[in-house]
Amino acid sequence: MQDPQTLLADIFGFDAFRSGQRDIVDAVCAGKNTLAIMPTGGGKSLCFQLPALARDGLTVVISPLIALMRDQVRALRAAGVQAGALTSGNTEEETDMVFDALQAGTLKLLYIAPERLASTGTRDMLSRANCTMIAVDEAHCVSQWGHDFRPDYLRIGELRRALGVPLAAFTATADAETREEIVTRLFDGVQPETFMQGFDRPNLNLAFEVKDGPRRQILDFANARRDQAGIVYCGTRAKTETLAQALREAGHSACHYHGGMDKDDRRDVERRFSQEDGLVVVATIAFGMGVDKPDIRWVAHADLPKSVEGYYQEIGRAGRDGTPADTLTLYGPDDIRFRRQQIDEGLAPDDRKAADHARLNALLGLAEALECRRKPLLEYFGDTDITCGNCDLCEKAPDTFDGTVAVRKALSAILRTGEYFGAGHLIDILLGNSTDKVQARGHDQLPTFGIGGEYDKRGWQAVFRQMMGRDLIRPDPSRHGAFRMTQAARPILRDEATITLRKDTIKKGANRPAVKT
Ligand code: ADP
Ligand code: ZN
Repeated sequence: MQDPQTLLADIFGFDAFRSGQRDIVDAVCAGKNTLAIMPTGGGKSLCFQLPALARDGLTVVISPLIALMRDQVRALRAAGVQAGALTSGNTEEETDMVFDALQAGTLKLLYIAPERLASTGTRDMLSRANCTMIAVDEAHCVSQWGHDFRPDYLRIGELRRALGVPLAAFTATADAETREEIVTRLFDGVQPETFMQGFDRPNLNLAFEVKDGPRRQILDFANARRDQAGIVYCGTRAKTETLAQALREAGHSACHYHGGMDKDDRRDVERRFSQEDGLVVVATIAFGMGVDKPDIRWVAHADLPKSVEGYYQEIGRAGRDGTPADTLTLYGPDDIRFRRQQIDEGLAPDDRKAADHARLNALLGLAEALECRRKPLLEYFGDTDITCGNCDLCEKAPDTFDGTVAVRKALSAILRTGEYFGAGHLIDILLGNSTDKVQARGHDQLPTFGIGGEYDKRGWQAVFRQMMGRDLIRPDPSRHGAFRMTQAARPILRDEATITLRKDTIKKGANRPAVKT
């Protein structure tokens, strides 16, 4: 076997392995089953390409990203490596060349799209071709519950058993649950040698803002970063179009992107984004996995992402070159309600829904954090010993107050009205507003009526939003989003726990604190 260090210099032209790479390369070279979790941009491809060259025989690489496969094949060929790809994008000539090289036994790396695994011919071809290793890129695509699920990835385990060769799986996204699924489906439940790299991307600045004129907030953020490439993620297709228009009117070079556009138009945006400087793409999450531009300087979320995994993957597209990049995520009570509803009304089984609520909670935990955002983010992914200094809360600590009494009053309003109402009506009760609805329901007779005079309407909205964010209350989808108390709120209601809340950070009211204490 050739020496990895020599190959690193001779073929890849690098002086040294990056942190983590060497251990993975050694394990893969030694023919062990491996699972490597590395942040995007960490240098995953080298960890299977180099062992493929060091080892005898052919390595088959399964990847869902045709464009990236083709780039890698091109780069390997340019370095004098016998590599090829079988994808739907092949010309007949390319395909013939791959088959010739397979026959001659000279091919070292063969990239195939997962769809290929559906044909029995592929497996036969690979066993005849002296395939000695399988590498799986974007291994989280095997997870049925992730948003990148590829049904054909479920055939990879079968292929591994049929060929009886080691498998090396790579991914950048892997919460504990997805990791388990990868082990079950790719390795028959036998834990492979697992490598987890720190997830921190210290060059990414993290910031959240409560929505308060969201279009203006996005424009302000973009205006402060003129002529820098950026992505704005939106929750709906329609919004990508209107927001791109608004950005153009503000003098930006901007275009929209979503799954409803035809393929050519989408390709066109992808190409422009990678080639032009300073283009802003306003997109749904359809603009995603294949985006491979190292110098994206900022990512903004105009709406709250679906989960902490989604959030980190999306902002993770910025700053892959390692130089500073900024991110901003906007959110508000409607976002929280929308995301909860999406989970509740989905078709997943109950335990799955509970897990999805937990992933959303983890994200809301960042949104409503009191100290640092990076710390809870990375702890969620299992990192410890986190240093930050590069998030909006580390830069400026938020004003907080003891919200125990406020939360208890709000819970009391919810419970005394039978968990049947949303924030608007509950706030009217707390403020003692005798609206028609309040009178019609006799809610002006409740002991809770008018007990919340210490805050104004905005103040109470901030309290309810944070209660949602901390999962003390949830909108009930079967009651038009009326709030229900969760188990997590019981200790506060019973006076067994206290809670610290943020004074709100809505800019408009900056000189007039929305929450008086
Ligand atoms: P990902 O983990 O996202 O798949 P890549 O494999 O595309 O990342 O690597 C990201 C970048 O880092 C590439 O430009 C690659 O050439 C570079 N890279 C990888 N390993 C090294 C190394 N040991 N030294 C220097 N650059 C490296
Ligand atoms: Zn921080």
